[in-house]
Amino acid sequence: MGDLLIERVEIYEAKLLYRQPFTISLGTSTYSVDVIAKVYDDEGNVGLGETSPSRKILGESEHTIEAAMRDIAPILIGEDPERLELIEERMDKAILGNTAAKLALEMAVIDLIGKRRKIPLWRMLGGYREKIETDFTIGIKKPEEMAKDAVELVSRGFRVLKLKVGTSPEEDLARVKAVRDAVGNSIRIRIDANQGWSVKTAVKVLNEMQRYDVELAEQPVKWNDIEGMAEVRMMSPIPIMADESVHTPEDALKVAMMEAADYINIKLTKAGGILKARRIAEISEAAGIPNMIGCMMEGGISITAAVHFACGMRNVVTSDLDSDISLKQDVVEDGSAKLENGYRIPPDEPGLGNLRLRDDMLKYIATYKERSEGEEF
Ligand code: MG
Repeated sequence: MGDLLIERVEIYEAKLLYRQPFTISLGTSTYSVDVIAKVYDDEGNVGLGETSPSRKILGESEHTIEAAMRDIAPILIGEDPERLELIEERMDKAILGNTAAKLALEMAVIDLIGKRRKIPLWRMLGGYREKIETDFTIGIKKPEEMAKDAVELVSRGFRVLKLKVGTSPEEDLARVKAVRDAVGNSIRIRIDANQGWSVKTAVKVLNEMQRYDVELAEQPVKWNDIEGMAEVRMMSPIPIMADESVHTPEDALKVAMMEAADYINIKLTKAGGILKARRIAEISEAAGIPNMIGCMMEGGISITAAVHFACGMRNVVTSDLDSDISLKQDVVEDGSAKLENGYRIPPDEPGLGNLRLRDDMLKYIATYKERSEGEEF
């Protein structure tokens, strides 16, 4: 019988190819290299974590994540996984930022806790709902191509579509018009400009876009222009959602105090952990701001964690959890969150669930077995 302390951490990479190139206003990608953590206790229980780097949104790549792991993974060794807030504090003291790296480790520790307590994560977090509807995101393309994708998605059961925009007002309006004309009025349409507009352009486009019944507009302006976003919100008939502007709980507080958004989009990778994501949800809830939960380009491990989060937390009212179904092949072979008729359903099994990975997609990177207290300064 062990002491149930963390005994070792293993780090892997998985290259995830998309079914088709994905374009947003910040650029185009065709694959993502995700980093996967396995955290073992001294009785052989294992927790899984996954993170998807975003060079342009997080300032992290698989290379920086793997380098940061050398500083933060040894902090976990010999630690009691139940002392999660202490682990989080020590990781934050060891190195600032690096949220994607921290998420992979924290998720694996939380999965381990759930497995040992025999409680599914969504129930650990509050157990508010059993499933959550997701949108499906259509990347930037020609209007007629986006309309064709939209019709196909509706035929697959999706009732909420998120359209990437943010190039020019004419093109963006044509994209939304083409999709609305193609899918009719019963489908919900939301848009995401990924910071592509100036304040002036955003106000102009959103006022014209209102005629296509757009339910919300994500991140119209630069991530660090909170004043600008507040101005857009005041002048826009379409509700505004902050995404790149809110990484941390402190960012959420600032956006709330400046009345800069009607919704806040939480992403586990951006927040740097499930604890921090929960703090963002709690700050948002106190401010009367509902949350969406979204994704970068995660596979089934991280998406399953996000589905658990969405179902556990009352303030998460909508979701954008589709990246695993956009992959040619997911790193999870089976056991991840189900997709049924446009809804995501978390596995009702301990921790994240019984996720079986495709071992042939895992590239081994490192094992950490020696404890470290972490360096300061
Ligand atoms: Mg977004």
